[in-house]
Amino acid sequence: MKGTDAVRLAVEDAGVESITYVPGYPATELAEDLGAEISINEKVALEVALGASVTGARSLVLSKQLGLNVLADPLVISAVHTVGSGLVVIAADDLGPKGSQAEMDSRAYGPLAELPVLDPRDIASLYASVLEAYQISEWLRVPAIVRVTERLLSSQGPDVSRREAKGHGLKFDSRTWELTVKGRHQKHHFDVLRAAEEASEATLLNRVEISGGVGIIASGYPASLASGLGTSILFPGYSHPLPWKTIRRFVEGHRLVLVAEEPEPFIESQLRMSPKVRGKLTGHLLRGPLERRDLVFALENIDRESVVRTCQYESTEERGYSGICSDCPFNPLYRALAKLEVAVAGDAGCVIKATREPYLAVDVAFGLGSSIGVASGFQRKGVAALGDFALAHSALQGLINAVWQGREVLVVLFKNDVAATTGGQKAPDLVGLLETLVPVTRVKLPADKSCLEQMLLEELKRPGCSAVVAEGRCSRQKEKEKGEGNGK
Ligand code: SF4
Repeated sequence: MKGTDAVRLAVEDAGVESITYVPGYPATELAEDLGAEISINEKVALEVALGASVTGARSLVLSKQLGLNVLADPLVISAVHTVGSGLVVIAADDLGPKGSQAEMDSRAYGPLAELPVLDPRDIASLYASVLEAYQISEWLRVPAIVRVTERLLSSQGPDVSRREAKGHGLKFDSRTWELTVKGRHQKHHFDVLRAAEEASEATLLNRVEISGGVGIIASGYPASLASGLGTSILFPGYSHPLPWKTIRRFVEGHRLVLVAEEPEPFIESQLRMSPKVRGKLTGHLLRGPLERRDLVFALENIDRESVVRTCQYESTEERGYSGICSDCPFNPLYRALAKLEVAVAGDAGCVIKATREPYLAVDVAFGLGSSIGVASGFQRKGVAALGDFALAHSALQGLINAVWQGREVLVVLFKNDVAATTGGQKAPDLVGLLETLVPVTRVKLPADKSCLEQMLLEELKRPGCSAVVAEGRCSRQKEKEKGEGNGK
């Protein structure tokens, strides 16, 4: 059985009724397996889930790497607001990033939002963690986070033994409003977090095996690399709150302890006061994803207090990054943009690939939906280049702000109607809405590069904000649709 199958079965057995997501690595495949409903951004995906939860339905949000940053506002508030039926956020981290603009350790949202985070290590614990997350969410009336990684989702393991664990249609308890915000926080700290600590200590997801004087505390996927190395092992089921009593006993009972986790030293940094502890902070392991050989190296050097490591920074050439497709209809537009002597803010998606040779058409790209806000801050009028999913995700707010504040920006929308880099999911058509905000010029692609360049130069002369909507059909999407047509 694959990791994604374990999640699907757990979601079925937990009786989850509302599943929302935003496409992106490494959550897309799981979302499609679950038949999840696409949302324009993660904040909205969580808001939909909150609405389902308070009216009695169990809900799930699948978050791609970095998606927790977008839904953080309602997430943090929901901890003290409380929910109704179980609400689980699966945070899918992209380690050694393959499809994301940064590598983030979503476990950090546990202490930040003061919510339980479960960090499953294999197929069986993945299934059990999702079920337990619904139980604890309903017991504590807060969302619970399950952190997964691509390696865990794609790993194989024995079939899980299933059990029925449906909820009881719990609805939001409006007595929460009898307390002030301070009072709700006090309740959260005194009741909810204490109960979460007890659950973390008592859960059957914890596993301890004793063997010799050296121990490994391993969280998440690295736990599957830690077995059979001749050490004791402790696998905590929760990475927040940690089972501190169990951890203290484990550290006290061993001469030295290695903490194996990824990508950041999240647990190790909470144990760093102990001179017995080794890990990423002591240089025994490198930050980022781990392999079994890394653990072997760390154990060979475990008696040293620290290890000095060097690192070769990976280049795009080494990784073999894919560029803009040679038959992309937007190619002449990228080339025309490259000719402009103004700054161009790009966005996540295909547009970010034009930061590199042979285009060098885009100067900066700060994340999905950021282009218009960034371009409106340029010291001289410039361009925001983005796809239609980025516009819907959050760039539209950047445009509203730019119009409101009388800023100057030329928006160039690469309209292909899909989220091309994440598998061709349909994007909402917002051109009509765009036309209510700014003057819009439409152009069909492919078109001649010199004409496009001339048109962009003319558009840049317009005062204030305006938009060029360039329409073209993604060549990969056309191939996909043709393949699906032939398969019928
Ligand atoms: S995936 Fe589609 S839109 Fe993106 S570069 Fe390739 S052809 Fe163009």
